[in-house]
Amino acid sequence: MTRMSQEPTSNFIRTIIDEDLATGRRQQVITRFPPEPNGYLHIGHAKSICLNFGLAQSYGGRCHLRFDDTNPSKEELEYVESIKADVAWLGFDWGEHLYFASDYFNQLYQWALLLIKAGKAYVDSQSAEEMRAKRGTLTEPGIASPYRERSVEENLELFERMKSGEFADGAHILRAKIDMAAPNMNLRDPAMYRILHAHHHRTGDKWCIYPMYDFAHGQEDSIEGVTHSICTLEFADHRPLYEWFLQELEIHAPQQIEFARLNLSYTVMSKRKLLQLVNDRHVEGWDDPRMPTVSGMRRRGYPAAAIRNFCDKIGVGKAHSWIEMSVLEETVREVLNETAQRRMAVLDPLKVTITNLPADHLEELQAPNHPQQPELGSRMIPFSHELYIEREDFMLEPPKKFFRLGPGCEVRLRNAYIIRCDEVVKDASGEVIELKCSADLDTLGKNPADGHKVKGIIHWVSAAQAQRLPVRIYDRLFSQENPDKAENYLQALNPASRQLVEALAEPSLLNVRCGETFQFERVGYFCVDSKESSAGQPVFNRTVTLRDSRGGGN
Ligand code: ATP
Ligand code: MG
Repeated sequence: MTRMSQEPTSNFIRTIIDEDLATGRRQQVITRFPPEPNGYLHIGHAKSICLNFGLAQSYGGRCHLRFDDTNPSKEELEYVESIKADVAWLGFDWGEHLYFASDYFNQLYQWALLLIKAGKAYVDSQSAEEMRAKRGTLTEPGIASPYRERSVEENLELFERMKSGEFADGAHILRAKIDMAAPNMNLRDPAMYRILHAHHHRTGDKWCIYPMYDFAHGQEDSIEGVTHSICTLEFADHRPLYEWFLQELEIHAPQQIEFARLNLSYTVMSKRKLLQLVNDRHVEGWDDPRMPTVSGMRRRGYPAAAIRNFCDKIGVGKAHSWIEMSVLEETVREVLNETAQRRMAVLDPLKVTITNLPADHLEELQAPNHPQQPELGSRMIPFSHELYIEREDFMLEPPKKFFRLGPGCEVRLRNAYIIRCDEVVKDASGEVIELKCSADLDTLGKNPADGHKVKGIIHWVSAAQAQRLPVRIYDRLFSQENPDKAENYLQALNPASRQLVEALAEPSLLNVRCGETFQFERVGYFCVDSKESSAGQPVFNRTVTLRDSRGGGN
């Protein structure tokens, strides 16, 4: 397992666990991450993964990966595989503890029989609408089903016939017999089993009745010896039911603990919506670099360490809250600033001719790969008579604080010389198309350099050797802070979330590996796309800008 970089931050769940261990109520810590394989994992799931695996790690326990595959109509093998890959990529290891709820179908069925025999469950034959109508409200009790007092024998027989496929979907349902007047609606005879003639990706056509979440989840936890079953707040009202089943079945009872789910601005996290974005081609797929999915973020170039750090930073609490997308982006920058090698590439080129060098001049200059980490080595970059700089690094009439290039001004070229702009060449329409500059060849590696007062440093590439590489400039997928507030969240989509440009890049950027992320100096962080790149033909995704330009400044 990957170690956390710092001491884990304390939270109310750790406090509960500390107490459980201190009082001897629990001897160890066994948690689980229980995804339903009906979509790809998103950043909210990452919070749950970091929490569950993180707790297991720091208490020397273990965390299970369990697929909650009780709803065959929406589940697929592709999702199972993607979830495993994502959890592993995040740096967590379930070891031998990979489980599927479907492995317990037989046991769950036996437990259902047990409850029927104990008079604690019955087959209801009302329609779904009837049942809904009789559920009551928060202020009124529900109305008992006319089938509630069926005999044990009749219930056993009907349940058996449900199982053997005699009935159509919805014809009957198995319900727990608890209390139709319970103030907690979840206890008003909740459904345990439903008929569903659907092919299951693991059990095939063996079953045509499937357990409901509430009847399955606690028992799955129990079978696995889970000690602390951590879930999101919306399950708090289900806790009495979770406990009721375990108590009636007289089996090991884990403790359910609820925490507030992650909400992140400028995105949506409902799997239904993410699936719609994919199916309706608003994005390329679940792993589109704009998606809040773990696979999208990986492809975008977010390091796993940044996602873990983010989850640690935002903490775990009981109050609903929103986290700003900028917090995640800043965490990504913090990690990449340490790890990403530096390169030079120009996205919006302006030609610069060095007039005091012959047209065939070519030299190789050494450039460090990281300003603070000499152990990352260096590379050679060509310098010649003709270069490109970023268009925005030149201004015809630069204001006082503009330390880059303007007519008669000097600037340092990163890893190279100080140049002075002697002449500005414009085309017929008045647009600047070239700068004629002279280089002071005595300024290489000299800072400060004699006779110069230069504050600005700009990036550049040598024209003849520059590689034209495709770059995807990604921005946030939604332009509204809370897309769910829009009439239709699709209306909040950012039309400019993906723009294709071409970079003029130093030659070393041809020789890269898929998934590698670089800082294009002064431009941003860029990751080699793992899907669209081929040998010697990298395609770059902009991971994140260097600074949060939304707050002003650059
Ligand atoms: P749904 O049940 O609607 O399909 P889900 O997001 O609950 O969606 P699951 O696969 O059931 O998906 O989730 C697996 C685990 O991840 C659950 O324990 C759930 O509590 C947790 N989880 C899901 N979304 C978030 C979130 N936004 N923040 C924190 N944890 C989350
Ligand atoms: Mg769920």
